[in-house]
Amino acid sequence: ARRSNGGTVCRFEPAIAQATHQRARLVAGMREAIARDELSFAFQPLVDLNTRRIVQVEALIRWTHPTYGPQSPAVFIPLAEESGLIGALGEWGIETTARFAAQLARETGRAIPVAVNVSGAQFATTPVLSQLLAAVDRNGISPSQLLVELTESVLTDEAKLVRQLDEIRNAGFRIAIDDFGTGYSSLSYLHNYSVHELKIDKSFVQKLGSERYSAKIVQLCIDLAGELGCAVVAEGVETEEQVEILRDMGCPLGQGFLFSRPLPQEEFLQLCNAEQVS
Ligand code: C2E
Ligand code: CA
Ligand code: CA
Ligand code: CA
Repeated sequence: ARRSNGGTVCRFEPAIAQATHQRARLVAGMREAIARDELSFAFQPLVDLNTRRIVQVEALIRWTHPTYGPQSPAVFIPLAEESGLIGALGEWGIETTARFAAQLARETGRAIPVAVNVSGAQFATTPVLSQLLAAVDRNGISPSQLLVELTESVLTDEAKLVRQLDEIRNAGFRIAIDDFGTGYSSLSYLHNYSVHELKIDKSFVQKLGSERYSAKIVQLCIDLAGELGCAVVAEGVETEEQVEILRDMGCPLGQGFLFSRPLPQEEFLQLCNAEQVS
């Protein structure tokens, strides 16, 4: 429908109304999810592409709603950010990841770093550094056992974020830039050598064999990491062909379904005890 002045009139759309209703229900559910113990983490290994040894772990949040079943973090994390729930969710996530890092070190005898995803919105609204310090203190681990993975879905105050990243690094935590090459992930985070790791977005990795442009981007990320002296990880590795190409390009580390899906805690610990992933 068009107005006489040419502007679009908002029409009532049942599908949109339903979506809004669904979002409201999810936000309400999320509010109680932490208290009701419905949230958990799945753990996915990062492996050395040559030896297939596990060198790092990423904690990925999982939520099973009692009525609506499993929810995708790609949906509920943005909702948590919009509704202000990300603060409580993030604090719970940092504490739970630190507890897992302590258990992992105890059970494997190796201090394998565990990565926790922290969004730009979390940095903007919560004291991430104090949460990290409290979590390592409570769980008796070293800051170097935690890796903060910066995921950015919204544009935030970049100067402030860079300062926070510097402080976190100075406190001994490691920092990774997630989904490098996409979204708002910015070159300014590489300033001051604050970053320990670049994670190449899976959209580029998955088109490695089929699209020259993606191969160029991946090579650029690998070379940039080399220049900066930081680690580089290819995300979303699903085929042996991708491993071959990545190794030829000089990428030492990978993560993806080829090595392991994100696993519940107990299964992940078993995988670590097997030492190598196929
Ligand atoms: P991400 O940080 O880029 O995480 C990688 C996503 O790719 C995960 O999806 C993982 O399950 C998936 N993945 C891993 N290997 C493969 C592969 O070989 N192929 C494909 N197609 N996918 C693969 P997931 O668990 O659904 O998480 C989605 C996003 O939600 C994450 O993307 C991250 O941005 C966000 N997220 C997850 N957990 C947290 C959290 O605790 N806090 C915050 N702030 N964000 C989180
Ligand atoms: Ca991540
Ligand atoms: Ca990613
Ligand atoms: Ca992502």
